[in-house]
Amino acid sequence: MRFTLLCKVCGKNVPFGLKTKICSCGGNLNIEYDMEIVKQTFTKESLTHRDSTMWRYAELLPLENKANIVSLGEGWTPLIPLRKAEAMLSINKIWVKREEQNPTNSFKSRGFSAAISLAKEYGVNQVAVNSNGNAASALAAYASYAGMKSYVFLPKDCPSLLVKECLEYGAHTFLVDGFIHDAGAIVKEGETLQGWHNIGTLKEHGRVEGKKTMGFEIAEQLNWKLPDVIIYPTGGGSGIVGMWSAFLELQQLGFVTGDLPRMVSVQEKGCHPLVHALESTGRFIPQTANITSTPTGMRVPNPPDGQLLVSILYQSGGTAIAVDKEEITQAQVSLGHQGISSSPEGAATFAGLLKLVEQGWISPKDEVVLFNTSCSMKYMSITHTDLPIIKTFEDWAKLSTNQ
Ligand SMILES: *Cc1c(COP(=O)(O)O)cnc(C)c1O
Repeated sequence: MRFTLLCKVCGKNVPFGLKTKICSCGGNLNIEYDMEIVKQTFTKESLTHRDSTMWRYAELLPLENKANIVSLGEGWTPLIPLRKAEAMLSINKIWVKREEQNPTNSFKSRGFSAAISLAKEYGVNQVAVNSNGNAASALAAYASYAGMKSYVFLPKDCPSLLVKECLEYGAHTFLVDGFIHDAGAIVKEGETLQGWHNIGTLKEHGRVEGKKTMGFEIAEQLNWKLPDVIIYPTGGGSGIVGMWSAFLELQQLGFVTGDLPRMVSVQEKGCHPLVHALESTGRFIPQTANITSTPTGMRVPNPPDGQLLVSILYQSGGTAIAVDKEEITQAQVSLGHQGISSSPEGAATFAGLLKLVEQGWISPKDEVVLFNTSCSMKYMSITHTDLPIIKTFEDWAKLSTNQ
């Protein structure tokens, strides 16, 4: 078998199963690949001839039969240098990973391509997720493409365009009076009572494994030399968990050597339980009161495994940082003026970068990757702009002399 499940607590090895997540001892089961088998076909050289999707890393994704791959062309997104910011901040290298270029305009495409492919392999036909928007839209798209029925549950204040998109993709769409974990409680009941396959964060194996491909891509795009720092807008944290296991697997394969990147989680002030944990005892405590941040992918007061996120941030020598809405809005404009359309979450990584440079936590010799996890337009709800409307060049000339 190319992959099995391993319990990190008692060390037991069990066969992979779609719903096998918890060991009989209570520990979490993680996918373990047999690297001897993987190595037979997975080489740096072999990668140069493969598809420009995340399925180029198929040996390290938990699917038996390639015929079950449900792909809309996700992954292999560009990694672009931000030269203006490098000069302005005197930082050696700053790249932005353009995850907004995925098929559903956010990096959620990766997790759901993997999760829906796995679901297909196991003959599932009804899937459900709780989400702040992008997970719901990705679930809806991939489920519809695979011919499955989908149910999505979003907090009622989520960006309206994201909700509309779920409907267009054909999901049974419901707004919830509460936060993402309240929506998760509904999905959990439906799992038992309706037989929905629950694709919530860390509820099955596909999403983390799909997000793992972001780590492989950064490594491959930087010619197998990992950056010093990765700044990631964190909510449920599957991207942190996924990328970290990607780096460990690449180390095992001997594809990368030396220090792994310092992982930085950015959260918005008003919902920053990770920052709180790192600033206090290191023990993760869900945030239960005063949740005042905006409804974005970072607003996850009670992630499924907060302690795991804290331990990865520590292990990597990383940190967590909070930025406020004002700083996010300014960062969105800064990135826009550098040619990058960013979501609030993506912009938060730039706002975090500015702070960490100012604090001296990021030094001039560092090489930094920012994750632009979605694009600006998905979060807009404007009906008009204040721009003047013109018909001819003369109209324009008249305006220009007035300005
Ligand atoms: C879901 C989401 C996040 C948070 O990602 P996690 O891996 O769940 O922490 C960040 N940005 C966007 C745009 C998202 O949709």
